Amino acid sequence: GVNSSQSVEVPKDKLLAGLLPEGLDENSCLSRYQLVMYQKQQMRRPSSHLIHRLRKYESLHRKCGPFTESYNRTLEYMKLGKYTNSTDCKYVVWTAIHGLGNRLLTLASAFLYALLTNRVLLIDPGAKIADLLCEPFPEVSWSLPSNFPVTSRQFNAFRKNSPQSYGNMLKNNILGNSTSTLPPYVFLNLVGGYNDYDQLFFCDEHQSILQKVTWLIIKSDIYFVPSLFLIPSFEQQLSNLFPEKELVFHYLGRYLYHPTNSVWGLITRNYDTYLARADERIGIQIRIFNWRNHGPYVLDQILACVRKEHLLPRINQSKSIFIPFDDQKPKTKAVLMTSLTSWYSEQIRNMYLQHPTVTGEVIQVHQPSQEKYQQTGKQMHDRKALAEIYLLSFSDKLVTSACSTFGYVAQSLGGLKPWILYRPEKLKAPDPPCQRAVSLEPCFHSPPSYDCKRKKGIDTGKLVPHVQHCEDRKKGIKLV
Ligand code: GDP
Repeated sequence: GVNSSQSVEVPKDKLLAGLLPEGLDENSCLSRYQLVMYQKQQMRRPSSHLIHRLRKYESLHRKCGPFTESYNRTLEYMKLGKYTNSTDCKYVVWTAIHGLGNRLLTLASAFLYALLTNRVLLIDPGAKIADLLCEPFPEVSWSLPSNFPVTSRQFNAFRKNSPQSYGNMLKNNILGNSTSTLPPYVFLNLVGGYNDYDQLFFCDEHQSILQKVTWLIIKSDIYFVPSLFLIPSFEQQLSNLFPEKELVFHYLGRYLYHPTNSVWGLITRNYDTYLARADERIGIQIRIFNWRNHGPYVLDQILACVRKEHLLPRINQSKSIFIPFDDQKPKTKAVLMTSLTSWYSEQIRNMYLQHPTVTGEVIQVHQPSQEKYQQTGKQMHDRKALAEIYLLSFSDKLVTSACSTFGYVAQSLGGLKPWILYRPEKLKAPDPPCQRAVSLEPCFHSPPSYDCKRKKGIDTGKLVPHVQHCEDRKKGIKLV
């Protein structure tokens, strides 16, 4: 790590031990090589399999990406509404719903699926990610061109009952065995609350059908990676790519996501102004899902957590000033708080300004924005959200709110095992107020509950040791 960006030097290993490709322009995306200097946890080495596979992916992308000969050819068939296997190129199109945390989790899931199935990943331009993230692949864009016959507006309208939906096709028995009945593209509905037919996506039998379809369009709001680990035909590949299972999103996120210069400016200015000089940085992410669950007892919960876990010192209410024992300079801790409301950070900031700490430590509280409500799709709002996810990931220690994908992305990118603030129940702070996560990985909130082999319901958190139920959502699963 670094203390100030003035002293920042570009590290020798700016390609992150081979995770990043060579030959990308530096100045048009400064974060690509500078991020490593801000994220505190030492990056662990990606496996040689992963590095090899990423390079292979990049050459596939170069060969099949937008406006290549292969791409143009498949488009001709697509326009005719015809199935083709006349090129070696197959695609996954990612389309977005919900907030930025959800988007970053599902985009990485779609990319991993593309890696496993030798497909090229293209993103729906309607997702408006281009303003936030740099192009990750050399030479050829990852953005689906506007000449694609299915428009963003149509992607938007896809639902589980749409005729293009795979689950719907299965339900209505539309797909026969011959490829002549295969459509040129299929929509995969992987949105929480999806039905049993949609969930058959996670069965090998259906993977071998989907393998033949040239264009797969994925709409998802869930981090479905843990269930990919339960598909037998992917198992071996995955364990080669990720010997350390809790680092899947960590590597994928560091490979794929690099904030554009406009967002990087927000990030580094906030960091340099408020965080760089502190001896320690504590990130606290407060996500209120239900505004009835908002108020003094959530504040109590946050304070109880940071005291119990020794993240921040107590205050001394009976003293007006701290009298030092020696002439040592007091340590400073910078608290980065993120929330849609500024109430919590104001309370905590005032508390530390009005009373000395028992240790003499100086506590500075900073909240970069207070947007009041979610405004996904608004450029500046989304930039701030992404900036805050990254600023949280630069913490030395991190506290997150249960079940928030926003927090999941920050923790995994930063390589941090957060303390999770449990959801308050019945307007009371839970006890214990928070608990340490078992792994860095995000939680898959709504995994399928179907055993493809035995064709019956199953608890997917009990099948293998590396896929367990989440701390913050019992029916969810996560890699550990
Ligand atoms: P989740 O709903 O917590 O799982 O996270 P998402 O990121 O998917 O959706 C919440 C959205 O609300 C974010 O993308 C932001 O647009 C906004 N939001 C929520 N919390 C914060 C915050 O602490 N800071 C900022 N800037 N935006 C937030």
